[in-house]
Amino acid sequence: MRFSRGKQDGYYHYRHYSLPLLFTLALAIPATAAEDASTILSRFQQYLQINTAQPHPNYYEAAQFITSQANSLSLPSQTLEFVEGKPLILIKWQGKDPTLPSILLNSHTDVVPSEHHKWTHPPFSAHLDSTTGNIFARGSQDMKCVGLQYLEAIRKLKDSGFRPLRTVYLSFVPDEEIGGADGVAKFVDSDAFADMNVGIVLDEGLASPADHYRAFYGERSPWWLVVKAVGAPGHGSKLYDNTAMENLLKSIESIRRFRAAQFDLVKAGLKAQGEVISVNMVFLKAGTPSPSGFVMNMQPSEAQAGFDIRVPPNADPASLERRIADEWAPASRNMTFEFKHKVSVNDKFGRPAVTAVDSSNIWWALLEEAIIKANARLGKPEIFPASTDSRHFRERGLPAIGFSPMANTPILLHDHNEFLNKDEYLKGIDVYESIIKTYASYIQHPRDDASREEL
Ligand SMILES: [Zn+2]
Repeated sequence: MRFSRGKQDGYYHYRHYSLPLLFTLALAIPATAAEDASTILSRFQQYLQINTAQPHPNYYEAAQFITSQANSLSLPSQTLEFVEGKPLILIKWQGKDPTLPSILLNSHTDVVPSEHHKWTHPPFSAHLDSTTGNIFARGSQDMKCVGLQYLEAIRKLKDSGFRPLRTVYLSFVPDEEIGGADGVAKFVDSDAFADMNVGIVLDEGLASPADHYRAFYGERSPWWLVVKAVGAPGHGSKLYDNTAMENLLKSIESIRRFRAAQFDLVKAGLKAQGEVISVNMVFLKAGTPSPSGFVMNMQPSEAQAGFDIRVPPNADPASLERRIADEWAPASRNMTFEFKHKVSVNDKFGRPAVTAVDSSNIWWALLEEAIIKANARLGKPEIFPASTDSRHFRERGLPAIGFSPMANTPILLHDHNEFLNKDEYLKGIDVYESIIKTYASYIQHPRDDASREEL
């Protein structure tokens, strides 16, 4: 924070000196009796016990729980239902200067399904192992932990007397696990979102097995490709060229070579998973069905295969498209292709959809600072290997950082026996307390500051 110059800019003088003073005063106010950890953990367990698994999430029970938490914090909340049956809960902590861009803390309320019989403890029991302190539940990492940590951090900040300068919003959104079309995608297009004047979004990241946290500034775009081959059908005993199966196999071989080359870069430690183009075959469809399986003496006239391709934001999409057209599904081999789903690697302004993680983005610098203040460490920023709701914000040119404070934790999202240790959960609350305080206290960009002083 800079000192202001001269009396003529009394307004800024007031701003620059009064905030640190306010914090000092806030620190002097005795906090209400610190809640014991078990109360905090039991709220986490209550949220985990609500079965919000796709494809039939109990969204209203989750909405009721989140709303009751907001009420207990005396924060206004509203339920937005862009699609019937899919409530989105928006909570507002009004800042002292509502004209400043706001902070949005996003989390999704749905979780992926579980194979209950493969879990040691039922996935909605939120069982706390008394020996290890691990809390087992679907959503314990992805990402009910984060949603409640935001609220618990705000509870602590309010108890300490802190008042935000910038408005802080919390959104609890539906349907992230099925693409977010009826959730965040509708939200970012709404008038309600425009009115929020969001300056920075925090959303989910991943657990880190190491002792530092991970942060994500972009993600790979899914391209779901189906290649299709046609050829003359014929007797199973005859050797001839251009059968659908042969044509498709040539493509599969070519795709496999590409996949191996990309994977080699990861294995050699030259690139992270999020930095290469991954291609995985997800289905093969061919053959002429018979009552007992497939007709064995006939070469079919059609064959197709599906691939889940993930394209990092720094890749050249045009060259990949050429490769698909020329090598993976060439017309010269009677092949065609279509995308079942294809997300652009660029934002709507045509720039790579990534959030800057250098000095040009003050929110990144502040995040690093806040995490250090909370006695934690952040690793090198990464590209998220899969998709999250963050892409909907980045697509609109908004900075969004994926961050879930879970260090020393195996990555178990979507896996059996997903768990989070209670101490990691509690530590994460302190980390968010530091982040929210730092973000919500940030006055303005020094550049804006300078230009305003020149006026
Ligand atoms: Zn998630």
